[in-house]
Amino acid sequence: LASRLQNVFGKLRSKGKLSEDDVNDALREVRLALLEADVNFKVVKDFIAKIRERAVGQEVMKSFTPGMVVVDIVNKELTALMGGTQSKLARSNRPPTVIMMAGLQGAGKTTSTGKLAKLLIKENHRPLLVAADIYRPAAIKQLQVLGEQVQAPVFSLGDQVSPVEIAKQGLEHAKEHGNDYVIIDTAGRLNIDEALMEELKSIRAEVKPDEILLVIDSMAGQEAVNVAQSFHEQLELTGVILTKLDSDTRGGAALSVKAVTGLPIKYAMTGEKLDAMEPFHPDRMASRILGMGDMLSLIEKAQESIDAEKAKEMERKMRTAEFTFEDFLEQMEQVKKLGPIDQILGMLPGAGKMKGLQNVKVDEKQIDRVQAIVRSMTKQEKQKPEIINASRRQRIAKGSGTTVADVNRLLKQFEEMRKMMKQLSSMMGPKGMKNLKS
Ligand code: GDP
Ligand code: MG
Repeated sequence: LASRLQNVFGKLRSKGKLSEDDVNDALREVRLALLEADVNFKVVKDFIAKIRERAVGQEVMKSFTPGMVVVDIVNKELTALMGGTQSKLARSNRPPTVIMMAGLQGAGKTTSTGKLAKLLIKENHRPLLVAADIYRPAAIKQLQVLGEQVQAPVFSLGDQVSPVEIAKQGLEHAKEHGNDYVIIDTAGRLNIDEALMEELKSIRAEVKPDEILLVIDSMAGQEAVNVAQSFHEQLELTGVILTKLDSDTRGGAALSVKAVTGLPIKYAMTGEKLDAMEPFHPDRMASRILGMGDMLSLIEKAQESIDAEKAKEMERKMRTAEFTFEDFLEQMEQVKKLGPIDQILGMLPGAGKMKGLQNVKVDEKQIDRVQAIVRSMTKQEKQKPEIINASRRQRIAKGSGTTVADVNRLLKQFEEMRKMMKQLSSMMGPKGMKNLKS
């Protein structure tokens, strides 16, 4: 899905002016890509309708860079589709907070139980894990091993006591031992069946969970979403844990589950290892799917911290290759306000692919050293780096307390940066846009 969408948006971005046909063409491809990714049909239909409505509207056509605006709309709608903002785990004001795991066999309930415990322990909570799957051979042992690994206590009564009784006593145990979270690992079946639902309902009635999290295997695509729907109808779930996102290249389940069930995705799991689970961020997932980096937040950040007038002047200099070391120094101050450089480069759309960018690696920690080198240059040298010959390099190195190798490296980086800026500005600057339009 990601690579297909990237192609569509690559085309859009490079356009200076969009006709309604351009937008329609792009949306047709987005629609196909989503259906191919096994996203629910109705979800796709609504999604495309929303994008079309906004994209063909005035805001896009009036804009300087309509292609980017459309990409931005899709990004925002994708984020909204997956729930908008991150959905936090419930926390009872009368601890312990009770979390019940549910899901089909093999979805990843037991693994999620262990990983969730790990996340909670990291936040200084004291979770108790309750082994209420008495059917699957070795299920209890599996949870005990996980508990040991994350250093969370595991409550078990073996496999001869009913799951409801285990859950009940587990909760009492937690109260007595001051555990502020109880995570109940339940049994699953290969398919949804009555007996399973009845058992889960009985446990729910007994312990009154604050959260009932459905664990679903994202590789199952739309089928996973259907499963979620049936569980939700029976159990009134509170959220979803999406597992196996590492093996899911299509993203269909992630995209449809919220829209179909209304349930927030609370956690995403991307591997078998214990630290491979994290809170689910719809915006990050949308960016990942679009493969565009976090472009918007870069623009926002830049707008916040870079003086507009200065930026304009800087842009003019970049375009005309008048960019000097003096500007470089000044820009560095601006960039410092923006944050870590790697992060900024990562936010540029297509940055990974761009030639030149891979080589420009301004190490955040060396920024002070770089500034020292630039300050050791004469005014003339700053404006005309070409004149910096071997003896000048030696002098600069001495003056800045660095080595000639450091100076050489910086000069090389500067040259590459100049090239990159020309490239960038011809792609994104107003002059570049004009060229494309004519
Ligand atoms: P349960 O039957 O729902 O309790 O499922 P388990 O927790 O026992 O997990 C079933 C299998 O899926 C195990 O082999 C897990 O290691 C594996 N698994 C769970 N989550 C993930 C994931 O996010 N990525 C990958 N690659 N494997 C996973
Ligand atoms: Mg299990």
